[in-house]
Amino acid sequence: MQPFDYVRAAGVRDAVTAAAAGPDAAFLAGGTTQVDLMKDGVFAPRTLIDITRLPLRGVTADENVLRVGALTTMEELAADPVVTRRLPVVREALLLAASPQLRNMATIGGNLLQRTRCRYYRDLSCACNRRTPGTGCDAIGGQHRMHAILGTSDQCVATHASDVAVALVALDATVRTTGAAGERAIPLTEFYRTPGDSPDVEHALRPGELITEVTVPLLPDGTRSGYLKVRDRVSYEFALASAAVAVRVTDGVVRDTRVALGGLATVPWRSRAAEDVLRGATAGEDTYRAAAEAALAGARPLPGNAFKVELGKRTVVRALSMVTGLPE
Ligand code: SF4
Repeated sequence: MQPFDYVRAAGVRDAVTAAAAGPDAAFLAGGTTQVDLMKDGVFAPRTLIDITRLPLRGVTADENVLRVGALTTMEELAADPVVTRRLPVVREALLLAASPQLRNMATIGGNLLQRTRCRYYRDLSCACNRRTPGTGCDAIGGQHRMHAILGTSDQCVATHASDVAVALVALDATVRTTGAAGERAIPLTEFYRTPGDSPDVEHALRPGELITEVTVPLLPDGTRSGYLKVRDRVSYEFALASAAVAVRVTDGVVRDTRVALGGLATVPWRSRAAEDVLRGATAGEDTYRAAAEAALAGARPLPGNAFKVELGKRTVVRALSMVTGLPE
């Protein structure tokens, strides 16, 4: 591990000031991914700013909005009674994301910023445009079974690893930040960057900008939601395909819906195309299949992950069937 300076921040402004003071500073929260990356030499900040004692922890809600402090742990959010009652898609995504040990350490802010699990990214002997721009991508010509089929580029095909980010993208959550230029609110649907020609640019945060809170609009009464995750084993595994869905059906017609995909794309993937098919249509398998076809219409699979196209469609159909009570 590279030597680094350790700073414990006394307040949010203190943390942001410390981050702005020098290059290659990073915030430390739960550290469940970051410390591994530092040990592997993939990530080497010169200054690590410990933010774990900042007052950014806790969940509150009013009638319309859930507010989640960035240092709230995954377990705390999953156990929140409002989340359990009003946002089951978030609770399910959290519980399927990681072991209880990790959920008790990992924070929501850190989860949204977690790095890809692409094995080439973490292996310093491999070419990786995301880790070292301009060096190439060993995944494209190598083992890419777990990699993305949506939002890819010729530079990078890595999937985004977060489950809860998929649920939060479906729910139109907003990230609130503090940085040298002040506070910002960034819709999560605009927060992540597909790789394009710059895979190393993963999100909209500016250098030294700190996530302080995530706000989540509560689903209207009568809306059912859920998260389906398909993976190689039941415990502690990343998604091959996942779907976060929310649907409100009355008189057999889909009145409103949200669909987002995980494990299939380079970013948590909101599918407006699937929602357009669903909204106003008769609830049922034929409609769900048409929505799934629309969701995967832009897929660009590689030889090793072509199976994900059909898997992704079936995941969408099954998730919609699950929350609307149809036979799966
Ligand atoms: Fe790196 Fe992306 Fe290629 Fe993986 S897929 S090796 S993260 S450039």
